[in-house]
Parts: sequence; structure tokens; C-alpha cells
Amino acid sequence: MVTTVTERPMHEPGDGRAPYGEAEIRRWVRGSADEISANRDFLTQLDAAIGDADHGINMDRGFSAAVTDLDASADLPPGELLIRVGGTLIYRVGGAAGPLFGTCLRRAGESLGDAERFDGEDLLQAMRAGLDGIQGLGAAVEGDKTIVDAYVPAVSAFERQLRAGGDATSAARRAADAARDAARETVPLQARKGRASYLGPRSVGHQDPGATSTALLFAALARALDGDR
Ligand code: ADP
Ligand code: MG
Repeated sequence: MVTTVTERPMHEPGDGRAPYGEAEIRRWVRGSADEISANRDFLTQLDAAIGDADHGINMDRGFSAAVTDLDASADLPPGELLIRVGGTLIYRVGGAAGPLFGTCLRRAGESLGDAERFDGEDLLQAMRAGLDGIQGLGAAVEGDKTIVDAYVPAVSAFERQLRAGGDATSAARRAADAARDAARETVPLQARKGRASYLGPRSVGHQDPGATSTALLFAALARALDGDR
């Protein structure tokens, strides 16, 4: 008797063949903490120019706490881990960025659900859910000189690369490059959201701290999916 094997789509939740899992999320959180820690003073200097000089300190505190929390937590599905880290960021980062990044990760984690594995499509959906979380909370759009300015081009680049047939690892590299370029492109913008908006035209000429840390988080993602660390 001939049996027909029906291919399950790679993005079906719980698909054991999907390439990524808990290890990649743990690597991403550790890699993000390292990136933020290495750039702590730079982020704080950026925030000194158009904010209150605490962004690097806030983010470093939050991601260090997330790593400690993660090291203490037993095996969890990727989505559950992200929800946990999101909660830690909300309670430990403070400022505007804590709730924004924290909500982003919670939403991304909810999008991954309780599946043990995920693939590029799952990740794209999770990134979009994270963006919805950021914009639902902060109501910023592209051009407002915020996290959104780096995040949106990163997700677009990620999707373009997937649609072109690339895997999630190469897509994450494109996303990281796009986020880095977009963070630099916040320099000529005038802030319309957050503390920097109080400066009006005086916010022009400085790189946005939150867009910069967003680029660091995407850089860490590219390395985490690449199996680094
Ligand atoms: P605070 O401004 O409360 O001191 P942080 O310094 O930690 O908080 O974070 C500042 C960053 O938060 C900004 O550089 C900007 O990118 C981001 N941000 C502020 N408001 C918003 C918003 N409404 N939507 C998205 N990002 C925002
Ligand atoms: Mg600040």
C-alpha cells in the first residue's frame, strides 16, 4: 500500500521540525543583555542630549534582571520565556522604555503561544504582535523619533528576506542592518513622542536612544539565531 505523506506547513504551531526553540530565546536575552551593557554609557549619553540621561542605566538594569530571572527559571516554551522577560522589563526598566519593550515581548511571547519550536513565519508574526503592543501603548508612528523608527524597518526587512526565500537567520541579519541604519536616520527628526518631544525643534540633530537600543536588540537576535554564544 502506498501512503501519501502530507507536508505540514513549517509555521504550524508545535511543529517539531521548526528550527528554533528555547535555546535561541535564551541566547537572545543573554546577547541583548551583553549588547546593552556594552553600550550602556552610549545609550545614556544619547538620552542626556534629548532626555534625562537614564536610558542606558534603565535598560542595563532590566536586561541584567532578565538574565538572572532566566537562569533561575526551569525549561519553558519560547513564548512563555518571552512573556516572563517582558514582565521583568516592565517592572525593572522603568521610564518609558520599560513598559514599551516589556509589552512588546509579552505580546511576542503570546503570539508564539506554548509551542516548543518556532520558525521564521512564527517569528515574523511575533514581531508584528510586539509592534502592535508598542504602538498600542505609546501611539507612536514612524517619524516620531522613537523605538518605532527602528522597529518598523527591521520587521519590513525581515519579511522581505523571508519572502525572497531566505531563512530566519539571514532575515534577522537584514533586520539588524535595517534597524541600525534607521536608528541613525532618527538624527534629523524632531521628536513627537516621549520626553524628547518636550524639546521641540531642539530634539533635532541627536540620535534617538530608544531606536538605538532597538537596533541592539535586533543585532542580538541575528546572532542568537545564528547559533552564536
Ligand atoms: P524616559 O523617557 O521615561 O526617561 P527612557 O529614557 O528609558 O525613558 O526611554 C526613552 C526612549 O523611549 C526614547 O528614546 C524613545 O525611543 C522611547 N519612547 C518614548 N516614548 C515613546 C512612545 N510613545 N512610543 C515608542 N517609543 C517611545
Ligand atoms: Mg530617559
